[in-house]
Amino acid sequence: MALINCPNCSKKISSLAKECEHCHITLGDMDEEQRINLQRMKKIEQSQKLMNHSMLAMLFFCGGIGALFWGEPEPGSVQYMLASGSAAIGFFWYLINRVRIIILKRK
Ligand SMILES: [Zn+2]
Repeated sequence: MALINCPNCSKKISSLAKECEHCHITLGDMDEEQRINLQRMKKIEQSQKLMNHSMLAMLFFCGGIGALFWGEPEPGSVQYMLASGSAAIGFFWYLINRVRIIILKRK
């Protein structure tokens, strides 16, 4: 008996299992090729989602920076806090997403 990754949820399951014990997807009728295909689809879906998140994070970052530059809010004002907060959140969110994409690609 060997351990494989579930093609649906990527958790470790027995290669003999007819059904994933974590997400309950039926594996019994799937051959090796179908499993690999499903796994690939999931990976693409996941990286697509991360890409969307990075885009959104980038938007936050640019929006914040843009507001700081062109809005020229008074330092210490609510607008200033919002703009710099949004830029900071966008920046870190973007970094986190990039790291997650790299980890995903390595798997
Ligand atoms: Zn599963």
